Amino acid sequence: MNAPIASLTANWNYPTAVKAGPGRIRELPQHCRDMGMKRPLLVTDPGLAPLPIVTGAVQACRDAGLDCGLFSGIKGNPTGRNVEDGVAAYRAGEHDGVIAFGGGSALDAAKAIALMVGQSRPLWDFEDVGDNYLRVNVQGMAPVIAVPTTAGTGSEVGRASVITDDEAHVKRIIFHARMLPTLVILDAELTAALPSRLTAATGMDALSHNLEALCSPFHHPMATGIGMEGSRLVHQYLRRAVEDGQDIEARHQMLVASSMGATAFQKGLGAMHALAHPLGALYDAHHGMLNAILMPYVLKANESVVSDTMTRLARYLDLPKPGFGAVLDWVLALRESIGIPHTLAAIHIPEAAVGTVGALAVQDGSAATNPIPFTPQEYDRILGHAISGTL
Ligand SMILES: [Zn+2]
Repeated sequence: MNAPIASLTANWNYPTAVKAGPGRIRELPQHCRDMGMKRPLLVTDPGLAPLPIVTGAVQACRDAGLDCGLFSGIKGNPTGRNVEDGVAAYRAGEHDGVIAFGGGSALDAAKAIALMVGQSRPLWDFEDVGDNYLRVNVQGMAPVIAVPTTAGTGSEVGRASVITDDEAHVKRIIFHARMLPTLVILDAELTAALPSRLTAATGMDALSHNLEALCSPFHHPMATGIGMEGSRLVHQYLRRAVEDGQDIEARHQMLVASSMGATAFQKGLGAMHALAHPLGALYDAHHGMLNAILMPYVLKANESVVSDTMTRLARYLDLPKPGFGAVLDWVLALRESIGIPHTLAAIHIPEAAVGTVGALAVQDGSAATNPIPFTPQEYDRILGHAISGTL
C-alpha cells in the first residue's frame, strides 16, 4: 500500500526550488550554505521552538559551522509588532538570511521579517493595495528558506504575508512577488505530530484553495491544472493522514497538495475565504475549519456558474455520476469522514453574525474572484445557511 520513500523524493523548480521528500530537513545546512547564508535566523512560533524538530534543525546548522539564531517572539496571528521585533533580532544578530519554520503564521511572520530587514519605510506602506509593492527595496530583502510543518496554508510558496495591525484591529496583506521563498523543503516527517483534528482542518483549507482557484473566473490555465491535481491528492490522501498521522506517504501527498493549492490560488480565491476571513477575525475561529464547513454552502451558491468545472473535476476524481452533485456529495462525505461538523453553529458562530459579516465579506480581497459577485445580502444568506445547516 505504501510507496517507498525514494519514490516520493524529488527536486522541483516550480513555482520555486522545492526539495520534496521525507527526511530532507537534513539538507538544511547545505542549502543555507549554497544560498550564501553564514548566519541564518530561524523564525518559528513559541509553541514549536522547544520541540526537537526545531532544536534539532538549529543544532544541525550550528554543527555544520553556521551561526544560526532563533527568533520565536510571534503570536498565533502575527502582528506588526512581532515583525518589528524579528527585524530587530535579525539586525542585532547580524544575520544574513531567514529560515521560515512552522505553520502558516510562523512562515508569514518570517517572510515579512525577511522583507522588512531591507526597508526604511514602515510595514504598512507595503500593504497589498494598488502599486504599493513598487516601494519595496528588493536588494535589501533577506533570502528565505521555508520549511512548513503543517499541510494547509501553503504559505511556503505564497508571495504574501497576512499580518495583524493591532492598532487598527484588522489583518493586512503584505505583498511582493519576491516574498516567494527562494527554496522550500517539504519534509512530511515534520508534520507527523500534528493532531488529527488539525490535520483535518488544515487539509480542508488546502482543498478550499484548490477548489476556489478552479472556480475563479480569472484566466490562468496552468493554475487550473494544478487545482485539479491538488484536489485529487486531497481526495486520495487526506482521510489516510487523519486516520494515521504516521502514514508518511499520506502526509507527504497532503504537504504537496497544500503547496499546490497556494500555487493555484495565484488565480484567485472566492466566497469561502471572503466569509472565512471576517469570521476568523470576529470570532477567533480556525481558518481551515471555517473553510471546511463553508465549502458545500459556497459551492451550492455558485452552482449555476461552476457546474461545467465541477463536472470536469468529478470526472478527474473518478466520482460516480460525474456532475456538480457528485462533487457536492464527495465534499460532504469527506468532511463527515474526518470529523468536520456540518454547521457553523457547531463551532459557536452565532446567528447574530448574519447582517454584519456579509458587508465585510464583500470588501475582502477574495470576493473579487468569486465567480458570482455576491451582494452583502447574498453573503449573509449563505452564512445563515452554513450556521443552521440548510443546504
Ligand atoms: Zn485558506
